Amino acid sequence: MRMEEEALLNEMEVTGQAFEDMQEQNSRLIQQLREKDDANFKLMSERIKSNQLHKLAREEKEVLNEQVVTLATQVEAQNQVVRKLEEKERILQNSVATVEKELALRQQAMEVHKRKAIESAQSAADLKLHLEKYHAQMKEAQCVVAEKTSALEAEAYKTKRLQEEIAQLRRKVERMKKIEMAGTADEVMAEEIREYKETLTCPSCKVKRKDAVLSKCFHVFCYDCLRTRYETRQRKCPKCNAAFGANDYHRLYLST
Ligand SMILES: [Zn+2]
Ligand SMILES: [Zn+2]
Repeated sequence: MRMEEEALLNEMEVTGQAFEDMQEQNSRLIQQLREKDDANFKLMSERIKSNQLHKLAREEKEVLNEQVVTLATQVEAQNQVVRKLEEKERILQNSVATVEKELALRQQAMEVHKRKAIESAQSAADLKLHLEKYHAQMKEAQCVVAEKTSALEAEAYKTKRLQEEIAQLRRKVERMKKIEMAGTADEVMAEEIREYKETLTCPSCKVKRKDAVLSKCFHVFCYDCLRTRYETRQRKCPKCNAAFGANDYHRLYLST
């Protein structure tokens, strides 16, 4: 019996010891579990946080993608503009080349024209010299012609007077002949009277007495004939055709 008790006690002691150990281990495990829970919780909260970050990042990525699309469109549009501008530049360079060619041609033409203008100016100066010389010669010739003309006119005037004198002398001869032919003194007297009357009568109208003189040629007529001629613009001497003006015909007084 004693032995059994002792064994039982011993066993109880071992079991109690074991129980204590178990409890100790249990509390240690609980401690560990708590720590794990804490760690788990920490991990959970970190995961939530990272999920949020991920979502934000995704949204941001979408926004950026949209921006990329927009920018790609803009870049395409800019590229088109650039291509158009390049095309324009090509066209403009072509026209610049054309214009430069034309400019070169025009400059050549201008040089030619310049040379021609210089030559023309030279020949114009030469011609001017010639012209001046010819002018001087012409002036001399005109002077000579004027001198000769006035000399000729003087000669013509003298000739006319001489012809009139000849006519007068012829009339005198006629009269002498008539006097010779007519026997009586009365007939001679009558002839002489007729001649003096004719001498005193206006040769233009053959009616009125001579009472006016032309101071250009000194031919004598009646005043009415000269005034009529002046007023009807036939302003020339009836005998010699010399032109006369308002101050060239004057009244003549043959008083007895
Ligand atoms: Zn008259
Ligand atoms: Zn006259």
